[in-house]
Amino acid sequence: MKILVLNCGSSSLKYQLIDMETENVLAKGLCERIGIEGSRLKHQPAGKEAVIFDDYQENHSVSVKMVLDALTNPEYGVVKSMKEINAVGHRVVHGGEYFANSVIITPVVIVAIEKCCDLAPLHNPANLIGIHACEEIMPGVPQVAVFDTAFHQTMPKKAYLYGLPIKAYTDYKIRRYGFHGTSHSFVSKRVAEFLGKPVEDLKTIVCHLGNGASICAVDGGKSVDTSMGFTPLAGLVMGTRSGDIDPAILEYYANKEGLTLSEVTTVLNKKSGMEGLTGGKSDFRDLEEGYEAGDQACIDAIEVFCYNVARFVGAYAASLNGVDVIAFTAGIGENSGFVRGKICEYLGYLGITIDAEQNSKRGEDIIISTPDSKVTVCVIPTNEELMIARDTKALVEAQRS
Ligand code: AMP
Repeated sequence: MKILVLNCGSSSLKYQLIDMETENVLAKGLCERIGIEGSRLKHQPAGKEAVIFDDYQENHSVSVKMVLDALTNPEYGVVKSMKEINAVGHRVVHGGEYFANSVIITPVVIVAIEKCCDLAPLHNPANLIGIHACEEIMPGVPQVAVFDTAFHQTMPKKAYLYGLPIKAYTDYKIRRYGFHGTSHSFVSKRVAEFLGKPVEDLKTIVCHLGNGASICAVDGGKSVDTSMGFTPLAGLVMGTRSGDIDPAILEYYANKEGLTLSEVTTVLNKKSGMEGLTGGKSDFRDLEEGYEAGDQACIDAIEVFCYNVARFVGAYAASLNGVDVIAFTAGIGENSGFVRGKICEYLGYLGITIDAEQNSKRGEDIIISTPDSKVTVCVIPTNEELMIARDTKALVEAQRS
């Protein structure tokens, strides 16, 4: 079975075609600037040079068509015809309280995703455009929605309710939803497999540290708490996002700077975090370079980041009433031994000791704690596309049988 995984943004579309017999990626790529001058498609067939197509992409339907043309192209393609693509798996950001699992897309599912547009106005409409484009161009091919929020639907009420007037929840559905669910689900399962232990027996804290960052407490394979909230702005201090702040800051800062609330929210999303603290640096490779060179802003930003991660790990060790495994993943978590090491310096009270040589490795499943460490600390590269493809395969096969 071959599955096309799509991740549609408002002006972008990322894809992977995965052969599910081997779970190998046959081709992947990215459409950028959809509907904007200067559109381009970068198509990367496995083991071959990438190809760039710079035809104008008026909308997502045009982009999906171009992706299918690239995938079936006699020279750069990886399949002979579109008929070889058995199903499409879509990343959908928000499933609200409607979806605790991935689902086959039906008209009823589409209505529920539409209802969640209010909760994720930048993402869900783009995800729906991708779904409709596939319906138009690949009629009859089963499509599956995999939600970023679904994994966290197992959180208990005490973890997801905010201390607001209860009508905020009952009337407006304001609650903690959590995001990066596909990654937290993948990593918490993979770490159990890697350690040769049943996932049901493990208390795991997953640290997804990328440009967007979140932490999840996973008890026996189920999410019981997570750091992102009503939106992906909450929790850790991130690349450009503030993470948790005192909510009274919004009005105070708006008054001081003469900004509207909406403009302050943009500052919190795009001009804060590492970028805001350093006045422009959000990539950890630059931040680490600055740290080494003694740049005080970079030193402060990295200290804030690592301290915040350690703080959440401590909170979730309490939520879980203990912790067996801590797993680092995503761009920073997989690649920066420096950041992992600094975070773990705070965790000695949990009986954690780190093997410096193991911690200098990156980009593979590894244990970075010493054999006598009371908690096993691992690096587990995340693979959200594979998780989407696996869910898609399972649902399509279940529907067939
Ligand atoms: P992601 O959002 O998961 O793609 O992560 C992207 C972030 O990972 C980048 O902004 C960098 O901050 C970080 N990153 C990627 N490679 C490295 C590396 N070799 N060392 C430190 N940080 C890295």
